[in-house]
Amino acid sequence: MKAMVDSSLKVLRPAWRRARPYLPAAAALCFVACAQFPLQMPTADPSESEQSVVSSDLDATTAGEPQTELSAVEPTAQAATEAEVIEVADSDIVSDAVAPATAESAVSPTAEGETKSMLALMQTPEQRALVDALCVEVGNKLGSVSVEDCHRHEFQAGEMFSVKGRPLLVKDLLPRPGYPDFRVLIMGGIHGDEYSSISILFKWLDLYSRDGLEGEFLWRFAPLVNPDGLLEGTKASRQNANGVDLNRNFPSQDWNDSAVSYWRKSTGSNPRRYPGEQPASEPEVQWLVQQIDEFQPHVIVSLHAPYHLLDFDGPAAAPERIGELQLRQLGVYPGSLGNYAGLNKLIPVVTLELPSAGSLPAREQITLMWRDLVAWLDREGRKGLVD
Ligand SMILES: [Zn+2]
Repeated sequence: MKAMVDSSLKVLRPAWRRARPYLPAAAALCFVACAQFPLQMPTADPSESEQSVVSSDLDATTAGEPQTELSAVEPTAQAATEAEVIEVADSDIVSDAVAPATAESAVSPTAEGETKSMLALMQTPEQRALVDALCVEVGNKLGSVSVEDCHRHEFQAGEMFSVKGRPLLVKDLLPRPGYPDFRVLIMGGIHGDEYSSISILFKWLDLYSRDGLEGEFLWRFAPLVNPDGLLEGTKASRQNANGVDLNRNFPSQDWNDSAVSYWRKSTGSNPRRYPGEQPASEPEVQWLVQQIDEFQPHVIVSLHAPYHLLDFDGPAAAPERIGELQLRQLGVYPGSLGNYAGLNKLIPVVTLELPSAGSLPAREQITLMWRDLVAWLDREGRKGLVD
């Protein structure tokens, strides 16, 4: 592993040096290219959207390109892109590279973290076998999550599956007795090539302590909501196995009027942003909609990468920062989760865009983000409980 990490660094460092003189221009491009957040609301003047056409094309070849996470599978020469280099300082890359996979031991799971799921559904042997098989795939794909890490959390398979039949994993963590249900749905990997957005949920599961403040909430962890995007074929993809961007496929109120036209005009029909033929056409989105309907979260937290910011949609006072991520509210897209859940269903949606898709933040940042998130949930998120 070290050899592979070293080889990745050999690729990254020269790229960083080459890119350094172009940082100001590249930073501007990167900002424009941000995958999750439009520079303008969907209703913006189409002429302004031209920028997005260019930037989205650029983004199609840059966002989510793996760095060290992929080293579990193959060393990659395409690791560093200008956009990513901007977002990831040399020191960050090193700290991630030093700590992949082996960093798990830094935080040992607590017995409390192994709280049995509140899901009433009994896992059939078939479901259990599918979860086990998925854990093998995940552990072999991600540099920071081992097969054993995945098995240890005893995820459950829901009743729905991905396009390719992979289970959609959940793990529930019950609150300590005496606390009212304050429900938090937290999800990663809705874009399959954003490795860190998946890995960090495993790290946070390890940090979870039922004796802590977080033990007062009912959590539903869904670490990999687009398993085919991560695992199908040799190269991870943003979209699901039908080529649909799941974060454009939620049945927001404006989907029928705007999703496809927005995709055509503002992204130049970029396949990485394809919203699908119909709202909620995809089984993964249908499952998430069902989760939202049944679990009725008070807050949803969604992990993405690599745009290094914090976004927020819906009621409640937005967090100013979560760890190093600072609030930058930039609007929503037709069919995005923030649009559907935050604006239409009035469920606060916290979106964390990690600084790199391929590398986890440094260990202290992972811990700090978790603490800041829990503190905000306690302070602002729970205000909605009064009803
Ligand atoms: Zn994303």
